[in-house]
Amino acid sequence: MKDFLQDKIFAQLSETADELNLPCYVVGGYVRDLILRRPSKDIDIVVVGSGITMAQAFARKLGKGSKLSVFKNFGTAQVKSGDLEIEFVGARKESYRRDSRKPIVEDGSLEDDQNRRDFTINALAICLNKEKFGDLIDPFGGLSDLENLIIRTPLDPDITFSDDPLRMMRGIRFASQLGFFLETRSFEAIERNRERISIISRERIAEELNKIILSPRPSVGFVLLEKTGLLEFVFPELAALKGAENREGIGHKDNFMHSLTVLDNISRETDNLWLRWAALLHDIGKPRSKRFDKRLGWTFHGHELVGARMTPEIFRKMKLPGNEKMKYVQKLVSLHMRPMILSEEEVTDSALRRLLFDAGDHIDDLMTLCEADITSKNPEKVKRYRENFKIVRKKLKEIEEKDRIRNFQPPIGGAEIMDTFNLPACAQVGEIKTRIKDAILDGIIPNEYEAARNYMMLIAPKIISKD
Ligand code: ATP
Ligand code: MG
Repeated sequence: MKDFLQDKIFAQLSETADELNLPCYVVGGYVRDLILRRPSKDIDIVVVGSGITMAQAFARKLGKGSKLSVFKNFGTAQVKSGDLEIEFVGARKESYRRDSRKPIVEDGSLEDDQNRRDFTINALAICLNKEKFGDLIDPFGGLSDLENLIIRTPLDPDITFSDDPLRMMRGIRFASQLGFFLETRSFEAIERNRERISIISRERIAEELNKIILSPRPSVGFVLLEKTGLLEFVFPELAALKGAENREGIGHKDNFMHSLTVLDNISRETDNLWLRWAALLHDIGKPRSKRFDKRLGWTFHGHELVGARMTPEIFRKMKLPGNEKMKYVQKLVSLHMRPMILSEEEVTDSALRRLLFDAGDHIDDLMTLCEADITSKNPEKVKRYRENFKIVRKKLKEIEEKDRIRNFQPPIGGAEIMDTFNLPACAQVGEIKTRIKDAILDGIIPNEYEAARNYMMLIAPKIISKD
């Protein structure tokens, strides 16, 4: 493994360890990523002895430009150097109680330390001491699992998952992130232990979900969550999309698989986590708006609005941010049918202006979502939708260049209306404002101050005298 340790930081670590006479290894995710040639900046170092002593000596060796932080309570220390973060910890042995994923920790050997790790591919260690520099210590066949793309626990998977149920999410996340396969015994142990996930905090679960969503083909992770039965616990609203009901010979598509296809589609276009979330949630309102009608068959009227109402609920439950990220996802969910409708009808400028006004800066992301939403298996239909969307995009561009609606603020505000007609804040002021805005969006007047002022003078007296 010597070839992998070219960075001079490893020579410096080696020197330090030998000076202190401490057995020292680089371990875990860093080794995995090194062999997979995935770039990573977090290096985990295990020493058989005090991690803190080693970190202090190492920071002294690096001198200026390195920064040492010691966490006495945890027996760990960190050294930052350039863009690298090097974590030091003494080899440890862990034992678990049933009600918590926080283990009882004691000093141990390298072997103890490797035994406590979650997957064989995460349990690799490379020796840094000069005599054995570059030797791989691989007690569980992690290297061969890396080559064969296998996720497997080093010890009995039932114990590994029951001890720390977060590992079930991590295993599925690695399968999704790395494009690996979950070995059968580990898969079945997740099925058996799925209820244990309830002792894991919402934040930690969301962190893993986000990593699944950011993986190259997120459907891999979500299908595994569904098949193992974890999905019901971690994301019941998504699990509710499952299945294609059939009544009187009329079926509808499986909205779970459809949502995953849309998510995979959009993941080829963007790494924006929140746009990917919008793809995952775009049809989340379907189960609650589903109706069967003898004449129309299955309908999901208003599912985009139901979905938009569910979005803050889901974000809150998952402890995801409730700020503009959530509002962005919510907006895309609520608008995702609009371009579709436009592309099917003769498009009027007025409808395009309204869409621009409602979507604002998110119009491009909305169009990306709608294009990802084309999942028909009929190539004729796919072609037609794609072409229609191209036309919608082109027209949106023309309208935007002409009328600059995207970040449109009506040129006349409430204060000016109140001033001009000597009105208090009242319903009429709101109505006048809306009429001016509508006139601009409908193309009755241009998006300019003079025109808006003249229009106001024309319509306001009638509205005011209505009282
Ligand atoms: P990533 O950095 O992509 O989240 P990782 O595997 O590197 O993945 P870290 O949290 O950085 O995860 O942990 C580093 C190493 O610590 C892991 O590779 C693994 O050996 C060990 N580890 C982390 N979390 C657990 C856990 N819950 N159970 C057992 N071992 C773990
Ligand atoms: Mg890591």
